Amino acid sequence: LVSRKNQPENTVIDINGAKIGDGSTNYVFGPCAVESYEQVAQVAEAVKAKGLKLLRGGAFKPRTSPYDFQGLGVEGLQILKRVADEYGLAVISEIVNPAHIEEAVEYIDVIQIGARNMQNFELLKAAGEVDKPVLLKRGLSATIQEFINAAEYIISRGNTNIILCERGIRTYETATRNTLDISAVPVLKKETHLPILVDVTHSTGRRDLLLPAAKAALAIGADGIMAEVHPDPAVALSDSAQQMDIPTFDKFFEEITDLDRRLK
Ligand code: PEP
Ligand code: MN
Repeated sequence: LVSRKNQPENTVIDINGAKIGDGSTNYVFGPCAVESYEQVAQVAEAVKAKGLKLLRGGAFKPRTSPYDFQGLGVEGLQILKRVADEYGLAVISEIVNPAHIEEAVEYIDVIQIGARNMQNFELLKAAGEVDKPVLLKRGLSATIQEFINAAEYIISRGNTNIILCERGIRTYETATRNTLDISAVPVLKKETHLPILVDVTHSTGRRDLLLPAAKAALAIGADGIMAEVHPDPAVALSDSAQQMDIPTFDKFFEEITDLDRRLK
């Protein structure tokens, strides 16, 4: 069902006025994790000031170590909802447990399924049964075919509003946190009718590479960019090394939108 052969025209997903998949460039910015109302609101303010419509923030964090910050859970979703209402933004947040989906949809606009859960088939099925768009991230070691099959799990349960997200894969290379598989973008565009974003934060894991990676993503035809922004990355409870502070974000956005204008 996700195949371009089955549906030649692009799927376009309208979230709060942002049309993902219609050829426009979309941006998803926000902190790695929701830490407090003030922290999220500061980022929302900067996002809103740019006329953007979408905000991200993790409430259930899938951390490699059980001793690291695990996220605020439902309280984090409530903070996102409050910020979303106050700033007129749509919020995207990761859900890791199928049992949480029903409650989560009361607070968030887009369900994110993270890289570590790309083959959590029960989660995919549950996300396929709700009336909310799903942002599906590519698994750490998933082939493009496995990624497509994961999307197929969701669409086959009835939910056609799926946004794919390339976020880098594991390779032998250690210069970056993951290897951004930039060619996955045109491959997925050719094989499927779904929109695709590129997450420059988790793919590169390096603040100095966010802008060049984002430029490559737009040049190769991605529908948008995801990147993490935190008011004070040095004290962030997760992904401290790669989140942008607000002045860096302002500069990043200025440069990426300048390229976007030249490309279009
Ligand atoms: C995230 O976007 O918050 C995240 C944890 O990313 P990934 O699942 O791609 O590692
Ligand atoms: Mn992160």
